Amino acid sequence: MANKVHPLPPALINKIAAGEVIVRPASVVKELLENSIDAGARRIRIEIGNHCRDITVIDDGEGMTAEDARLALQRHTTSKISSYEDLNRLTTRGFRGEALASIAAVSRLEIIARSEEEMVGTRLKVEGGKLLLQEQIGAPRGVTINVRDLFFNTPARLKFLGTPRTELNQIIRLFVRHALSAPEIGFILLTDKKLYVELPPQQPLVERIVKLLGTSVADSLLPVDFAHPPLRVFGFIARPEHTRKDRSSEFFFVNRRPITSRSLSAAVEQAFKGYLMSQRYPLAVIFVEIDPQEVDVNVHPTKEEVRFTREYLVTGTVHRAVIEALRGANLTPNLKMPEIDQIAAAVQKQVGEQLAQTSVEKIPSFFSQQLAIIKKQAEERRAQQRTLPLTPFMEKSPSKSSVPSSSPPETSVTTPATPPEALPASPESIWKNTELQPVILGQIANTYILAELGEDLIIIDQHAAHERLLYEQLKNKSGQKIAIQPLMVPLNIEVGIADVHSLQKLCPLLQAHGIEIEHFGGQTFVVRSLPADIAERLDIEGMIFDLLDDLHQVKPPQDLTSLREQIIIRLACHSAVKSGQALALEEQRQLVAEIQRARLGVTCPHGRPTMILITRTQLDKQFKRK
Ligand code: ADP
Ligand code: MG
Repeated sequence: MANKVHPLPPALINKIAAGEVIVRPASVVKELLENSIDAGARRIRIEIGNHCRDITVIDDGEGMTAEDARLALQRHTTSKISSYEDLNRLTTRGFRGEALASIAAVSRLEIIARSEEEMVGTRLKVEGGKLLLQEQIGAPRGVTINVRDLFFNTPARLKFLGTPRTELNQIIRLFVRHALSAPEIGFILLTDKKLYVELPPQQPLVERIVKLLGTSVADSLLPVDFAHPPLRVFGFIARPEHTRKDRSSEFFFVNRRPITSRSLSAAVEQAFKGYLMSQRYPLAVIFVEIDPQEVDVNVHPTKEEVRFTREYLVTGTVHRAVIEALRGANLTPNLKMPEIDQIAAAVQKQVGEQLAQTSVEKIPSFFSQQLAIIKKQAEERRAQQRTLPLTPFMEKSPSKSSVPSSSPPETSVTTPATPPEALPASPESIWKNTELQPVILGQIANTYILAELGEDLIIIDQHAAHERLLYEQLKNKSGQKIAIQPLMVPLNIEVGIADVHSLQKLCPLLQAHGIEIEHFGGQTFVVRSLPADIAERLDIEGMIFDLLDDLHQVKPPQDLTSLREQIIIRLACHSAVKSGQALALEEQRQLVAEIQRARLGVTCPHGRPTMILITRTQLDKQFKRK
């Protein structure tokens, strides 16, 4: 019988986008998973131990003969392509024939394999690339790969590894992507001999998503299914109220291969535009099925990025598919939805006209009622504000005036909120005169509070300022005993499997900040109390999810001090009044009084400005009185 594995012709080797593929434990898991999936496995078992340096992957796929197993260990040997043309009709995840050789070169590797045709299996042992042993052994059909002491012979590589926890997080995030990509395959993942997660074969995609990303998404998933031959886009998105702080919950698969793609992210985010607050990202699990001829997988060393022949067609179809899913959705907020006003206001603001005119009939009544109420409130407020002395000034706002632009706060991160001449606003300059009592003039756009201070005008970004205030207060109190408020009904929080360990680690720290939280088992955590001062306002779930996202950044806060700091920042952010939130005059007064008492600085913890001062002198200049 002919071997399935064969060496690639040298000319073809040179055309393959090669690169260092094994750089960390997660790269090993990725390559082994891909091989098992390519082999048609129905079940795959992964075991991680020894600080992520021992990795075992067992599958029940087609297996390998003794000869194939030996060949497969050599560089540039594969069963998946033979010619350059094959690259254009690729349906497998692997094709470069490098992985096993690369893993064998930097570890002690054992392969046990048996193919359907053979009665006995084969066992091979390799150390640092050298074949030590090949023998016959009884084995079930399929392949078992044992990697031990990864990087034992490359100390430099070993030194650059992150902590075992960081490496395990990488593995789990990678596992999540691959497990999402193949819900028909059953997976078992063990870490340090303990079961981490088990996913049955033939699992419906939606169940797999919920299991992997946490049941908190369960109620808000919307199906995506859109065909635009020869393309098909399907999967799930979460309703707009379920947002994330970064793109870590955007998953894309092209012909089942997990990929990252800026243009696909942009397409999805664009479709969500108007439904999401700024700086928030959707949860989306999107599969693109496309003729393999239209995709070039051979552009990136780890095949994580692909190139489409007709990029516009793919991004356009994905965009459309998500729009359709959102449109078809019953956008009535469910009871869990915490920020209806906020979202409605955002919808109104960002797609306002368009949405109101074109699809109000399609919006279920509760939502349109909310919109109507918000509109009415806004009109009333505008009517009130017309009587304020500010109105003519605000309406005039010539382009080169010193009036701050009305652009939303996020744009002021990069551009200063005001032209230079209008921006003094150090805390001293605003609050230097302690005798003066600010007079509240009202809110604009439910986002900025205007106050008169003496003869000057202060414009306060209500969210940023409140956030800053809370941040200072929490910071001052850190290390002290914090008053807590028990919850009448403990709150369950379900996190994704990639977050269980991180949150476990955070629990004692959160406890120190007045949040009694403990691991309940599996992916469930229970919150029993909140810090009394902010209990009423705190969106604890949102806060915890953001915090977990913080830990997944490229450079997560590692040491205790920066973790504590991050907790305070997130607590402040999620307890502060929101932008877009209507505040009664009395609430505005209280907030401004507190700000004055604290002689608050002019930037929020994220470094954005919190307030602007426009002096009488500047106004006079503006009107050419001086
Ligand atoms: P590639 O996947 O790019 O072909 P690898 O070095 O990962 O290269 O694997 C080399 C060959 O070994 C594969 O082409 C495949 O034929 C065989 N192989 C590797 N892992 C398995 C597995 N788990 N089951 C069956 N065959 C495998
Ligand atoms: Mg491979």
